[in-house]
Amino acid sequence: MVYMGSDPCAKCEEMLQPFLDRELSEDEYAIAEAHLDECGYCRKRYKFEETLRRYVRQAVVEEMPPELKQKLAALRTPL
Ligand SMILES: [Zn+2]
Repeated sequence: MVYMGSDPCAKCEEMLQPFLDRELSEDEYAIAEAHLDECGYCRKRYKFEETLRRYVRQAVVEEMPPELKQKLAALRTPL
């Protein structure tokens, strides 16, 4: 088992976004996947985030009312 520090779930959460963005190194993927294998909590979190992303992607492709598009555009604007 790869060492993930005192709080593997926190580390796992840190890797969630880069994991879904496919920005992790092979080693990091292995670490994340090993943890997901044994941690139902993080597995659920990853699944949820993945589903959310798929939904958002789909919503962007499909026709949206202009006011919703505007709302999403506003969300994307960096603070
Ligand atoms: Zn966990």
